[in-house]
Amino acid sequence: IAQLYQTSALAKESVFSGSTSSFLPSASINSRVGLIRGDITKLQLDAIVNAANSTLLGGGGVDGAIHRAAGPELKAECREMGGCSTGDAVISQGYHLPAKRVIHTVGPVYSSREPQKSERALRSCYENSLKLASLEGVKTIAFSSISTGVYGYPSQDAAKVACETVRRFLENNGSILERVVFVTFELKDVTAYNEALP
Ligand code: ADP
Repeated sequence: IAQLYQTSALAKESVFSGSTSSFLPSASINSRVGLIRGDITKLQLDAIVNAANSTLLGGGGVDGAIHRAAGPELKAECREMGGCSTGDAVISQGYHLPAKRVIHTVGPVYSSREPQKSERALRSCYENSLKLASLEGVKTIAFSSISTGVYGYPSQDAAKVACETVRRFLENNGSILERVVFVTFELKDVTAYNEALP
């Protein structure tokens, strides 16, 4: 992760300098939150958060990448769990991943007719993942950009929900979380987090 931080130094600069935001979260929270662009399967942390589907049996996108890197043992454990509802989160081992655990959360398929319903579900994904992480003693965690791939959630709106939910959680819970990293992959999400994070 140190290497990824270095390679994303420019992105970090643009995130943390020149903000004109009227809201400035406390320094203790800012210092616990990071942003990188890269492959979440390479991160050596206590947990990474997968944008899973409700079967938990793997799919495309980041889910497929995580299952490929973790090996078939992950699918076997997920099969035992019997699925997960939209907005909920479950935890598994990381197997062949550098990360110790995987938190699987199921994001909403974005509905432009019911954006508030989509937003509530996306908030739940972040909240339930953070609660589960804290309960399980996870100190360092990386989130993929839930629902902004195949599930079609607009990147800017999703980044705002992610940043707000994490900030609120860190403010309101005497959390053991030491480090929360947002992992972006596509340029549209890099841009969205660069705008939302400050
Ligand atoms: P969803 O179905 O929730 O939209 P996707 O896997 O399609 O899930 O996309 C979620 C996000 O994960 C997208 O922003 C996509 O660019 C990103 N992504 C895809 N592969 C990786 C990866 N290896 N590491 C990190 N993020 C990834």
